[in-house]
Amino acid sequence: MTDIYQILVHPDPILRETAPEIDKINDGIRAQAQKMTDTMYAAEGIGLAAPQVGILNRLIVVDTARRARDEKTAPNPIAMINPRIVWSSEELWTCMEGCLSIPLQYADVERPRIVRVKYWDVQNQAQEIEVQGLASSCVQHEIDHLNGVLFIDHLSRLKRTNLLKKYDRQQKEKHNVL
Ligand code: ZN
Repeated sequence: MTDIYQILVHPDPILRETAPEIDKINDGIRAQAQKMTDTMYAAEGIGLAAPQVGILNRLIVVDTARRARDEKTAPNPIAMINPRIVWSSEELWTCMEGCLSIPLQYADVERPRIVRVKYWDVQNQAQEIEVQGLASSCVQHEIDHLNGVLFIDHLSRLKRTNLLKKYDRQQKEKHNVL
């Protein structure tokens, strides 16, 4: 059995913390990246940030090539250490987002359609990539997590209130069943 992390869910206060940068990329960080990747796949997510598994450092993993449940596409996980958006397009687009830390709730979120991101990979190499569309939204969503920001923070007050009402109801029902 693969060793995976437990994913924290809203309103866990760790999800609201700003994570400090990683200053040394060592075996511990590589193991964390691997375990986060396994956790992301087990949860059928396309991205995961360290604070979501209770670790306060700036590491995210994403794999937008492989949509949930699609076994035909080969996995292509990318682990990004200290990721930084260095350019965003003025052009925006809207993507339906969800979050493993706010299970079963989805909403349209508007973000820049293209972003350029600098990060360090697990081999200690500096990388820069440009992502667009789904991958762009995913990377921005995960970097938000490193700053204690959740996708619901991008919604209007009314939409956020409605979504959280549904979420609270669902969390209560889940606990009643158990
Ligand atoms: Zn999320």
